[in-house]
Amino acid sequence: MFIRKNKEKTKGETILKYLSTRGTNEQVSSSLAILQGIAKDGGLFVPTEIPKIDKTLEQLSKLSYNKLAYEILKLYLTDFTEAELVSCIENAYNCNKFDNPLIAPLVQKDEYYFLELFHGRTLAFKDVALSILPHFMKTAAAKNGYENGKDEIVILTATSGDTGKAAIEGFADVEGTKIVVFFPENGVSPIQKLQMTTSEGKNVRVVGVLGNFDDTQTGVKKIFAQNPGKYSSANSINIGRLVPQIVYYFHGYFQMAKSGAIELGQPINFTVPTGNFGNILAGYYAKEMGLPINKLICASNENKILYDFFTTGTYDKNREFFITTSPSMDILVSSNLERLIYHTLKDGAKTKELMGSLLSNGNYNFSMKNELFTAQFANSEEGALAINKLYSKCKYVIDTHTAVALASYNKFKEQNDNGFKNIIVSTASPFKFPEAVCTAIDKKQCEGKNSFELMEVLSHLENTNIPEQVKNINKREVKHSTVCKVEEMTNNVIF
Ligand SMILES: *Cc1c(COP(=O)(O)O)cnc(C)c1O
Repeated sequence: MFIRKNKEKTKGETILKYLSTRGTNEQVSSSLAILQGIAKDGGLFVPTEIPKIDKTLEQLSKLSYNKLAYEILKLYLTDFTEAELVSCIENAYNCNKFDNPLIAPLVQKDEYYFLELFHGRTLAFKDVALSILPHFMKTAAAKNGYENGKDEIVILTATSGDTGKAAIEGFADVEGTKIVVFFPENGVSPIQKLQMTTSEGKNVRVVGVLGNFDDTQTGVKKIFAQNPGKYSSANSINIGRLVPQIVYYFHGYFQMAKSGAIELGQPINFTVPTGNFGNILAGYYAKEMGLPINKLICASNENKILYDFFTTGTYDKNREFFITTSPSMDILVSSNLERLIYHTLKDGAKTKELMGSLLSNGNYNFSMKNELFTAQFANSEEGALAINKLYSKCKYVIDTHTAVALASYNKFKEQNDNGFKNIIVSTASPFKFPEAVCTAIDKKQCEGKNSFELMEVLSHLENTNIPEQVKNINKREVKHSTVCKVEEMTNNVIF
């Protein structure tokens, strides 16, 4: 049983509203929050209250991934009907989109548990949310009076690699939507580039930008600013990306219970390789909903701004920026941290003040008194060692981001072995980063080989096939070859 405040009752249903982290009183429905992406005052949408699960852990533990997803999503997307949610879920999580029937399988290797979130179309955890977001948007558009065939949702994305392709896979050929992805022409890995430029789908446009990722991102923000309300966002500030991620924390926990490693109800830890703070924030929501979590271990690479924040209470982006072997975590502004701060303070005005300080001074002070979070970091070298050690022992290969989490977890354990079981959230397939991964395992074998040859090496090392998602990607037809200057980006939002 749970009691929800702050909600209206309509037609016997409880409605959960969303408001901005920056204190404006505007409250919107879940569908509008998803369509809008970001609040009008520049804040992020959060639910007025984090709902509690309305079934027991035992009941939930018996459900398939899709049924479990329904039980979680229905508590957040309260203006979607049951039929609409089920349709979104079935369209997102099926054998055409994921190569493992469990969607997010938990595997035990050595003393570690890995929650593999890379079985989707683009081999990164972003597929979990981006497979369903387009369906949410389409449903939300219909609810909010968009006319089919007339009002289109156009998604603009700037990417440094992973988000762009995951968003394309999600939105390709989804009726009523178009997607434009801008990527830095010379700033993504060869495999990431080919993943994007060989994309199919009539509603997809991919454009290389002659500039770095920051230029690309700034260009997209400019287009948003010049055309208010015209475009939607597929990046992790959208609440429609956060909510689907809560599901796999429950799913991972239940798989661990099923294996007999824990009893239902016993708390565990999760170690999460973190960049924009979206993935780990979903773990916080899971805990607030009633999942027994002891600690969320926030793992950073050399860009350890979050480690410094959690340990010192100062968030300061005035620092050196490192390019690492875990590029999706090379980030100095972790957008979703704003949501945690808001939930902790429950004060929009104060949150706005801190974010204002970040914008004008590049820093803010806030001592996060949240017992749930702890932080660690590991550099590329420590990550490589972790890859090597695990491979030597188990013949199991992890990617560079997951390796940061593993190395960070080992440090955590050395410092405080509190006896809790731990799940390492595994965010990408090693086949996305063959250069760094192969080198970590067997440097000699890798010298002078290109990415595709290294995929072969990896496939022999792991004794698995190269995933279909990237196999022969160098032989696929390049469908997108437009390259433009930063100033020309606006003219390229066309089909
Ligand atoms: C995006 C990404 C991360 C970071 O996740 P956040 O939600 O941004 O914290 C970690 N690993 C991989 C492989 C990613 O693509």
